[in-house]
Amino acid sequence: MKATLTVLGSGTSMGVPTIGCDCAVCHSSDPHDRRTRPSILLEYGGKTVLIDTTPDFREQAIREHVRKIDAVLYTHSHADHILGLDDLRPLSFRHKPNKLPLYARPQAADFIRSTFRYIFDADYKFGGLAQVELKPFQGPFELFGASFEPITVIHGESEIDGFRFGGAAYLTDHSDVPEASLKKLENLDILFLDALRHTPHPTHSTVEKSLRIVERLKPKRAFFTHICHDLPHEATNASLPPNVRLSYDGMKLEFEI
Ligand SMILES: [Zn+2]
Ligand SMILES: [Zn+2]
Ligand SMILES: [Zn+2]
Repeated sequence: MKATLTVLGSGTSMGVPTIGCDCAVCHSSDPHDRRTRPSILLEYGGKTVLIDTTPDFREQAIREHVRKIDAVLYTHSHADHILGLDDLRPLSFRHKPNKLPLYARPQAADFIRSTFRYIFDADYKFGGLAQVELKPFQGPFELFGASFEPITVIHGESEIDGFRFGGAAYLTDHSDVPEASLKKLENLDILFLDALRHTPHPTHSTVEKSLRIVERLKPKRAFFTHICHDLPHEATNASLPPNVRLSYDGMKLEFEI
């Protein structure tokens, strides 16, 4: 089935420009250097699946004219990936009397449930709460005729999820990708990887480290995300192999799901 992937945000947890920063990238006039928090949208067979709800979700959804969301997948429960959950409200109301399903591994689902207690333990009579329900996953699951395989990655000291869906995979926060997970990422058309910057970081990958993953897995096309203000878009792209590019907010890709 044909699918479209839209990059809603390609930036690291603080976004680019970063508040109060006077560096060249934060002051760049290139729109590609403006990076909201990391998230993607998948559209296939008339359905729309969102991965992560960042603090920038409202702006991203308005920018991309999002009209509906049929499911949300969470990679993990860090603030930059979940704090836009409340802005699902207008899209969740369309699901009444049902609820918009939110998929996350059990630990992440528990964390989201406690962070958003006012939604999940609601005793509020006046309406207006997001109509959402958590669906913990363990292993691969199917959504609207496409199969989603959680891919375990190491993010500092935690295990979190990336996802493979058909010919594409999205890995957003990883300091390491275990061997067993690499084996699930063969024969890809599109591979998204974390590439925060050049300097090593305890919980994130670097351009150099992610290039080694690309060399090993040989996807047709690779895109880097979760990018900080150390990487100017144009100059960094010029230094990358032709099949590897920095992703950018608003980028759209076609693939088979
Ligand atoms: Zn993150
Ligand atoms: Zn900066
Ligand atoms: Zn994280």
